[in-house]
Amino acid sequence: VVQVYCEPLTRKGDTFGTVIVHRDITKEYEVDLMKSEFVSTVSHELRTPLASVLGFTELMLNKELKPERQKKYLTTIYQEAKRLTALINDFLDVQRMEAGKQTYDKRYDDILPLLTSIVETNQINSPNHTLHVDSRTSNTMVLGDKDKIGQVFNNLINNAIKYSPDGGNVYVDIFEEGPNLKIAIKDEGLGIPADAIEKLFAKFYRVDNTDRRRIGGTGLGLAIVKEIMKAHDGEISVQSEPKEGSTFTVSFPIVIGTHNPSENSTQEN
Ligand code: ADP
Repeated sequence: VVQVYCEPLTRKGDTFGTVIVHRDITKEYEVDLMKSEFVSTVSHELRTPLASVLGFTELMLNKELKPERQKKYLTTIYQEAKRLTALINDFLDVQRMEAGKQTYDKRYDDILPLLTSIVETNQINSPNHTLHVDSRTSNTMVLGDKDKIGQVFNNLINNAIKYSPDGGNVYVDIFEEGPNLKIAIKDEGLGIPADAIEKLFAKFYRVDNTDRRRIGGTGLGLAIVKEIMKAHDGEISVQSEPKEGSTFTVSFPIVIGTHNPSENSTQEN
């Protein structure tokens, strides 16, 4: 994006020429665009679940309903309220991370049961996809904050399901590579265009194309994943082919020894 303007050249009040200035304002333009995208994402994402909570509550208050119908409406209200809570938690997480105020309660723990239970929950919630877990190592101990690592797995598995069509498979592989324990989450979904890959982990970034316009989200999930991995001396990488699928791989340093450093939580800035 280029801004062009004219600057008259004057000497002792007389104009004797003009300078045409070309200024590259791509950066400013992108920041503005991101801000307005943020405002529209936030209002849309908060409004949609709130509208359904209000709508169904009103229905229940104004009508005599059969118990089954009541239960159906209450389930929707409950799910939408949960979605709102998750959204607000994501916003708060990002804010805490930016302010360097996020705390991590790190302990040596086996992440395999954590991962399996997250896969099971996602499988129950997404019966139209098939999730597979393959653990190719016996050493699945990690020094980390279990809740935060759970958030990493959950965000990645959730995305793998969300961005693949019904009937798709999601493969979760756990393996050792050099000094690292790696977890790869592979899907057969929409994939990601090459020019979007470098922006993927930026806050509020969402890949823009018509296929995914109806898929809700805030563009915060991967930014949170990246921060959590950084706080664990870990890494995240992605390989993807549009229309073929994507593989997100997280990597933790393998820990030697299995004792907990202390009962106190550690703070990372
Ligand atoms: P959200 O899903 O809320 O938009 P994320 O930060 O989790 O935010 O992801 C950012 C963007 O990356 C998404 O909008 C989506 O377009 C793309 N993306 C993430 N994971 C996948 C995936 N497994 N397959 C295809 N696209 C993905």
